Amino acid sequence: MNTYCPFCKHHTSHNVKLASKGRARSMAVGNRKHERKLLGHGGKRAGEKTVKKQGKRQKVTLECSQCKKKHERVVGTRTKKKLEVGKEN
Ligand SMILES: [Zn+2]
Repeated sequence: MNTYCPFCKHHTSHNVKLASKGRARSMAVGNRKHERKLLGHGGKRAGEKTVKKQGKRQKVTLECSQCKKKHERVVGTRTKKKLEVGKEN
């Protein structure tokens, strides 16, 4: 796939791979923040504690063939279907 490389600063060809989510870090800043928010009763609006997200965000990893560096791209929005690699999009 021919696309922009932020490291080479121009368009180069890239290898496209599906990005996999790494292990969740329980002590990551975002998670700690979220935990803190769940403490107490949160005023009148108890409940609403877990948000179910519809579908997953599809990310691909693009590896530049010139500098061999990787960057990610979110493909579309949340989808329920699994993304296919190899298709041009
Ligand atoms: Zn590059």
